[in-house]
Amino acid sequence: MNGSDVGLKLCLSCHKVCAEQTERCPRCGARVYQRRQNSIARCWALTLTAAMLYIPANLLPMMTVSKFEEGQPQTIFSGVAELVNQGMIPIALLVFTASVVVPILKLLGMVWLLICVRFPGAAMHRQQMLYRMIVWIGRWSMLDIFIISLLVGLVQFGQLGTVTAGTGAYAFASVVVTTMLAAMQFDPRLLWDAVEPGAEKVTDS
Ligand SMILES: [Zn+2]
Repeated sequence: MNGSDVGLKLCLSCHKVCAEQTERCPRCGARVYQRRQNSIARCWALTLTAAMLYIPANLLPMMTVSKFEEGQPQTIFSGVAELVNQGMIPIALLVFTASVVVPILKLLGMVWLLICVRFPGAAMHRQQMLYRMIVWIGRWSMLDIFIISLLVGLVQFGQLGTVTAGTGAYAFASVVVTTMLAAMQFDPRLLWDAVEPGAEKVTDS
């Protein structure tokens, strides 16, 4: 049984239970949906956009550190290699995790969830856990931006030179934002709809 079987729907913003014909929540004024509209299509679009932006984010230079002479523009990978060369292994690991491992895991996780909604199986509890993990991990995606600002601060403070952000940094920031939006667009209730026996079929349109 789900909300539409008993003529109810839930306001996602304040969690008030509303009648099925309600369009706006009487308590907080937010729009109330049976399921987020076009959740799956929007989620696919944003996930694919993020995946495409991930290519320039890795190929284009993230930043240029110049000392006395003109510095070499650094991509994520060359930056990590440079940090390893300088003996800063923990920072290199942190940058690698935040800018390579986390975004890839998030994108693969979103694709997996979207496929699961399309082809429902038995292990929906695991999918629900995966969704919560993706949302949780999203808060840490800004870690990389934080590290860059930290490096900029260190370099400026030590008067070692200047740091300028490259086009890759903008691409990377867009990856972070679009993946976050994709996770927000995804309606986790669709995962349960896919396996709920005997419930009225609810779609996101
Ligand atoms: Zn509300």
